[in-house]
Amino acid sequence: MIRSLLPPSSLTMTAITLLCLGVALPATGAAAAAEPKSQITILYDAFGTDAAMKKDWGFSALVEVAGKRILFDTGNDRDIFAANVRAKGIDLSNLDFVVLSHRHSDHMAGLSYVLSVNPKVKIYAPREGFGIFGSSLPSSFYRKDESLPPQMRYYDGKPPEVMKFGAAWQRANFELIDKTTEIAPGITLLALLSDVPGTRELKELSLAVNTSDGVVLVVGCSHPGIEKIVEAATAINPKIRLIAGGFHLVAATDEVIAKAVTTLKDTFKVENIAPGHCTGEPTFAALKRAYGDRYLYAGVGTSLPLGPGTVGRRGEGPAIQEDDLATYRKLAQREDPFGIRKARNLRSGLSHL
Ligand SMILES: [Zn+2]
Ligand SMILES: [Zn+2]
Repeated sequence: MIRSLLPPSSLTMTAITLLCLGVALPATGAAAAAEPKSQITILYDAFGTDAAMKKDWGFSALVEVAGKRILFDTGNDRDIFAANVRAKGIDLSNLDFVVLSHRHSDHMAGLSYVLSVNPKVKIYAPREGFGIFGSSLPSSFYRKDESLPPQMRYYDGKPPEVMKFGAAWQRANFELIDKTTEIAPGITLLALLSDVPGTRELKELSLAVNTSDGVVLVVGCSHPGIEKIVEAATAINPKIRLIAGGFHLVAATDEVIAKAVTTLKDTFKVENIAPGHCTGEPTFAALKRAYGDRYLYAGVGTSLPLGPGTVGRRGEGPAIQEDDLATYRKLAQREDPFGIRKARNLRSGLSHL
């Protein structure tokens, strides 16, 4: 049921993208105007072949599926995010909602730009105690001492029933997600916790859209573990059609990468893979080897069509090209986004380097 879209290798990347977009569109012009788009457009990443897009460490994607326009994450730098949104001609004023996967700045820094265009937009974010998306607690959480004079007591001894703690974006329309929730028919936010040192208890949301061809899964950084996230998605529908986003294997060993690839391909039978962001170069290579033409290149600026039977362009060569690889490396080095180099240096007594 999946058609091969093998283009001649001499075609440029842009031409290939256009070709595939054409395939995803309905056949008649009249229907095309009425039909909502069905695609994922990568708006922020540290690799890509679209000269109009700026590269930087971080992630954002516009997910157009099931008649909804969903902005998933907002990148690492407000100005770069704004430039990329403009370069793609994307209108942020008519989004259905925004999803912020987690509280790391390489996924949130463009939110202030989104709010400048669309201040009332609904934003789903993870619920975390005293988190920057805001939170609240019943005032019964703290111990009272009635023997104290009022001026020594919190709220003069008369606390509000619910104590509210502010968000970093004060007037934004946040809806905080505590546990896995279907927020619209067929559209589920998976809420999972990280259990690794450095991000322990970090809550992350992933977007699972149940289409007639299986689940389309969009992940931000996969701090809870890509395997755990996919397992949670299979509870919605065991058929996983596509995963796009960051798999957080940027510094993983070959053994860990091999295990993850096997789990995705053989255990969960994930059909197509469009890795980006913190997936990591050796993982790009391992996934490309394992998936062949079901590995969908998803650099910044790429649109992955989600029309029936089409999930993107196929078989166009390496997972990542040489000049692209150089930029990805440079950005990953500069940011050291997971503190991994620092930790390694400390371990090996080379912290002075
Ligand atoms: Zn992160
Ligand atoms: Zn990240």
